[in-house]
Amino acid sequence: MDALERGALADVVVLPGTTREVAEIVRVCGETRTPIVPRGGGTGFTGGAVPVRGGVVLSLERMHRILEIDEASLVAVVQPNVITGDLQDAVERVGLFYPPDPSSLRRSAIGGNVAECAGGPRAFKYGVTRHYVLGTEAVLPTGEVIRTGGRVVKNVVGYDLTQLLVGSEGTLAILTEITLRLIPKPPHAATLRATFSTIRHAVDAAARIIKARVVPASLELIDRDSLEAVAGHVGIRLAPAETGALLLIEVDGLAEQVAAEADRVESACRAAGAEELLRATTEVERQDLWRVRREISPSLLRIASRKINHDIVVPKGRIPELFDLVAALKVRFKMPIPAFGHVGDGNIHVNFMVDGADPDAVRRAQEAEGELFRGVVALDGAISGEHGIGFTKAKYLNLGVSDDTVALMKRVKYAFDPHGILNPGKIFPD
Ligand SMILES: Cc1cc2nc3c(=O)[nH]c(=O)nc-3n(C[C@H](O)[C@H](O)[C@H](O)COP(=O)(O)OP(=O)(O)OC[C@H]3O[C@@H](n4cnc5c(N)ncnc54)[C@H](O)[C@@H]3O)c2cc1C
Repeated sequence: MDALERGALADVVVLPGTTREVAEIVRVCGETRTPIVPRGGGTGFTGGAVPVRGGVVLSLERMHRILEIDEASLVAVVQPNVITGDLQDAVERVGLFYPPDPSSLRRSAIGGNVAECAGGPRAFKYGVTRHYVLGTEAVLPTGEVIRTGGRVVKNVVGYDLTQLLVGSEGTLAILTEITLRLIPKPPHAATLRATFSTIRHAVDAAARIIKARVVPASLELIDRDSLEAVAGHVGIRLAPAETGALLLIEVDGLAEQVAAEADRVESACRAAGAEELLRATTEVERQDLWRVRREISPSLLRIASRKINHDIVVPKGRIPELFDLVAALKVRFKMPIPAFGHVGDGNIHVNFMVDGADPDAVRRAQEAEGELFRGVVALDGAISGEHGIGFTKAKYLNLGVSDDTVALMKRVKYAFDPHGILNPGKIFPD
């Protein structure tokens, strides 16, 4: 299983240590038409690494070395199962920066991040995993080992197969080596927290920050339900009791720029009606401000035994309508739906909290999920901004993606994997 916690039994688990071994396993599976499911850190939320059709789970956990940090070319070359946080630590030791920061970064691997095109709070300013992948070595389901892209940022030779592999959820090829772009580490950062009486005020503040021409490294919104859950979980309130929504904002760069941007952020929040404004001046204070965000995931399970979480995304300008939709779903389906996330890029985590032992409640959550997805597509958004489709959202693939586009995607899949052995049962509905 992965973080979705809906597992299936593999027939065999293999742990290759080299690209050659991966290719050899794939060749055997091709001859016997055996499904192969690549597995990285196993933290996916959509069942991507789950062997829903049995077969071979190919865990890349033994391929976990950073092969090179090239400071002159601003490039890192890694094996697929380098843990994301370990790579970040290693490059930061030499003054460089690998920005993509999924909250799972201490457990998820670069290969899994590339396969899912993982994002995180820093995506608004720095982009997602896709923006840092320059090249790959990959084993095709037909057994060939290919190289795509390279070490250069500019490369327009033929189709961009590197970017086709990013976000392909382990259905087109098995990544065995990845070349990543690095940037210099911003030397300074400031973290601010602003509380508001309503979501609308918080969203207005986010819009004003952007209007003030500040692009924060993080711009996170947390709603009242999530704050209540955190208070119940940690035993103290991390924000004033009357808070309806909270923004966490981080700006980074050169010291002068950081100070000036933090001032502009404060003004924008005040203009939007901020009730309490805090600015961290030490690392300890900064960690204190971030604590409320880190505590959300473990806290939500206090509300109900099962969390059905979705990572929908809407254009920034439609965020107020998204929260109206969530409020309407709460009333209609009579369940807590805490929502929080990356308001800077419109990617909000919407969580249906239900009693997992109550089939009626689970059915209502599934109905609400369909309504959410249809509403999001009507707002010009997408049903997944981070976690991918896996098997859980396959039946919704057609929402917002035309039949012709899905048919083309299937032809691409067939071109890579004519026998359908690589991660079957994912992305496409049966
Ligand atoms: C607490 C928590 C917080 C999270 N926060 C975020 C977040 O902020 N942002 C975000 O984007 N996601 C988040 N996630 C989801 C998850 O961590 C990401 O999707 C992550 O990228 C998965 O990486 P992994 O190594 O665990 O991959 P796995 O779960 O092992 O696999 C994910 C998919 O990638 C494929 N795959 C893995 N390795 C390879 C490879 N070498 N070659 C080809 N295919 C491969 C698998 O087949 C599967 O389809 C979170 C998860 C948890 C549990």
